[in-house]
Amino acid sequence: MRIIPAIIFLAISALAFAKAPPQVQKRKLYFIHLKAKNVEVRSKIANFIHIDQLVEDSIYSVINQVELKNIKREIPHLIEEFHLLEEQSFEHYLDIPKYQFPKGDESFHTYNEVVSELKALATKYPNIVQYFSIGKSLEGLDIPGIKITNKLDKKRGDMVPAILFTGSHHAREHLSTEVPMLLLRHLIESYGSDKTITSLVDNRVIYFVPLVNPDGAMWDIYDGKYKTWRKNRRSTGAWTHGVDLNRNYSYKWGTGGSSKDHGSEVYMGPKPFSEPETKAMKKFVESISNLRILLSFHTFSELILYPWGHSKYPVSGKDGEVFKKMATTMSKWNKYTPKQASGLYVASGDTCDWAYGERGIFCFTFELSPKWAWGSAGFYPGAKAIVPTFKANIRPALYLIEHAADPHGVLDTKLL
Ligand SMILES: [Zn+2]
Repeated sequence: MRIIPAIIFLAISALAFAKAPPQVQKRKLYFIHLKAKNVEVRSKIANFIHIDQLVEDSIYSVINQVELKNIKREIPHLIEEFHLLEEQSFEHYLDIPKYQFPKGDESFHTYNEVVSELKALATKYPNIVQYFSIGKSLEGLDIPGIKITNKLDKKRGDMVPAILFTGSHHAREHLSTEVPMLLLRHLIESYGSDKTITSLVDNRVIYFVPLVNPDGAMWDIYDGKYKTWRKNRRSTGAWTHGVDLNRNYSYKWGTGGSSKDHGSEVYMGPKPFSEPETKAMKKFVESISNLRILLSFHTFSELILYPWGHSKYPVSGKDGEVFKKMATTMSKWNKYTPKQASGLYVASGDTCDWAYGERGIFCFTFELSPKWAWGSAGFYPGAKAIVPTFKANIRPALYLIEHAADPHGVLDTKLL
């Protein structure tokens, strides 16, 4: 009867495992000020940390203890000042999660609220709205999306120009989910009454994936308090979870401005598209044959960024002119600063370098409001920032939807 001792042994092991005290995990966040007089130095720093804010020749970021150690070891001469902001102890997170935004910020959408709102819109407006999932997150959540187009017009064929808006590749950038959520509602509810929007919905396919990183975004509000979380929730040991999804795309992956250290907030992952979230994005983007424009919302700093990010050289030829022209045109409306992404610092593996480099899609990153802020405050501008930030970006969004038909058309001055 050898099977019985084996069962007893397993039962005892399971009991021991269940009763083991939870591992105490501490994450320390520091506010750091670094001197960086030019783009070369900034790009060097971007190999270790995310540059939250750039003011003249100073960089201000919130970093963790692994990053602080790396910076002290590799580039100590660039440190101006740093101090401990907070210590996060994770042992009590074994309780049932609440997934609640802190008091005052309840108008931000939780994951469940995003899904139920998108589904409700699809039910209410079946002629123009369709709900879908692009795939599962690491922790098994559907990554929700919505398609807006005139479904009744069967004559249009498959070549209707398409555009995609995405939000929250980065967990703590909750405003980057709110802006597309308001934008999609605006398009849907204005259909039939607003002439321009009606015509755009009739003649384009407009996709939204407002919450690319649901696991990370919900971890950021797990217990009703913000955690300044950036990455997804890939387990890499202790508290250093996560891959930076906006460093995990394949185009020129790992060629600068991202880290191989899994403790870093800009950890690129073990290989390109190692994460289910970026894999799902890849598959989804590749499934839309006529996708011409992609706008990836992030926060913060009020910037309009366009490729390249991995290289200091501009996109060559006519396409380079299209990027510049579109970015400067939109900047007149939202007052953001238009810039080639690598003009700030070189960073590789982001959505836009991949979308343009691999697929020829005109891809922009909007870094939403505020323009600047101290510490983590820039990621948490409060509920009052939602509506003004949405309003500032309606016209740029409509402009992109319109020009999805022919991005090169923006160079034709006769049309202006
Ligand atoms: Zn971001």
